[in-house]
Amino acid sequence: MRRRLPLRLAWTLRYTLALLVTVSIFGVFTYDQIFRRTEEDAQIVLDLQVDQIGEVVARSDAASPAVAAAVERSVSVAESDFKLGLQVFDASGNLRLAAGSLLLHPLDLPEETRAGSTRPVWREHDVGDKYPYLVLTQPVEGAVVQGAIYTRPFVRNARDVRDIYLYSAPVLLGLTALLGYWLARGSLRPLQEINRSARRISETHLEETIPTTGSGDELDELANTLNEMMERIRRGMDRTRRFSANAAHELRTPLNALRSRLEVTLEKEREPAEYRHTLQELAREVEQLSDSVHGMMRLAQSGAGLSPEQRVPVDLDALLRECSEFFEPLAEEAGVALDVRLDAGAVVPGDASWLHQLFANLLHNAVKYTPAGGRVELSTETQGERVAVRVRDTGIGIAPEEAERIFEPFHRVGARPDTPGVGLGLALAREIARAHGGEIQVESAPGRGSTFTVWLPHEGPREAGD
Ligand code: ADP
Repeated sequence: MRRRLPLRLAWTLRYTLALLVTVSIFGVFTYDQIFRRTEEDAQIVLDLQVDQIGEVVARSDAASPAVAAAVERSVSVAESDFKLGLQVFDASGNLRLAAGSLLLHPLDLPEETRAGSTRPVWREHDVGDKYPYLVLTQPVEGAVVQGAIYTRPFVRNARDVRDIYLYSAPVLLGLTALLGYWLARGSLRPLQEINRSARRISETHLEETIPTTGSGDELDELANTLNEMMERIRRGMDRTRRFSANAAHELRTPLNALRSRLEVTLEKEREPAEYRHTLQELAREVEQLSDSVHGMMRLAQSGAGLSPEQRVPVDLDALLRECSEFFEPLAEEAGVALDVRLDAGAVVPGDASWLHQLFANLLHNAVKYTPAGGRVELSTETQGERVAVRVRDTGIGIAPEEAERIFEPFHRVGARPDTPGVGLGLALAREIARAHGGEIQVESAPGRGSTFTVWLPHEGPREAGD
């Protein structure tokens, strides 16, 4: 399994990353906006200066003193705030006048202006540092005015903002990481509490519960879920404990009886007929013991549920018919009428031998606990996605307070020493029904009879010819 970062660290990293992304997007956006505006500012200033000179040139001549004075004035006024250069060319492209910073970096006329174009031309002139000159060449009547402006004073503000972002990034990152760590620790504290409680409970006291705050938030929900899980585990363990104790008791009593019977028989020499009689009785006892052990094993198996390969389509009516035919001789012997009405035609996904065991247990009980002259009825009926199998008898019935307990392993109502059985039949029936996604219910009235109903999910009717 891939090893994962501790949650606290992972959350801290996530918080930091989220903030970093937000700040970066914001930073890039603001820098871009400021940069664009300052560039526009430089263009506006240059445009204004070139326009002014252009007007003077248009009124007089490229070589007139008025133009020279205007150029000088513009350059000297501008020079205190930013570097500006101005040049004036005559109609044939000869330089007539140059003033300001441009003298250091003489500029030529662009090709298209030389070729006679009258459109203004914008260019950038690289002077070897990271801030270029912005150059505007503007043809006017009989001359060309060219201006250049150093972009540094304009762009510098935008770059300053960018530098502030860049230099403060590590500090911001550190602060976010700290804040993220603090937030993550706070959010995880209740989870750690739950973990501590759960560990204490699993180590020692299973009956304790994880404290809840009653806020109904996700962590409270988790604590409640864990408490419910613990409760189910506790109940399961109780059941297992009771089952083992009962099983041990159930095996010990007949084993003790067997042992004392053997000891008494072996105390002295006996007639062969007496030995035979004793051995026959012992064989019956051993058979009952083996029935108990067999029942316990089946119960343990069915409690683990059905495996996928055990789940095959079972024709329920056919299975029940076979089962009832098996009990016909027993019912006849007991003087009980067996009435079978099977017409649901349902196919149940499951294990045929387990289902056979389930219904055999119910039918056997119905015959066993119905006095001579009574009736046992086996019927099926589909209701939506489920099929109901009913085993109804007119037997001795079950008292209401016993109705749930009869499904517990080894529970037998009252002392019925005359009826054989170990009290595992119904427990097994219920486990098998549950393993098939179904349920078993009982309705009964003492002296009037009982109805056991098994509900099972089915796959619809059996196909014709099956
Ligand atoms: P067993 O029949 O071996 O005692 P079961 O688990 O099959 O064990 O049944 C548990 C108890 O439920 C029985 O001892 C009996 O008292 C009662 N019981 C089961 N089926 C019926 C029935 N059809 N009529 C009356 N009592 C029943």
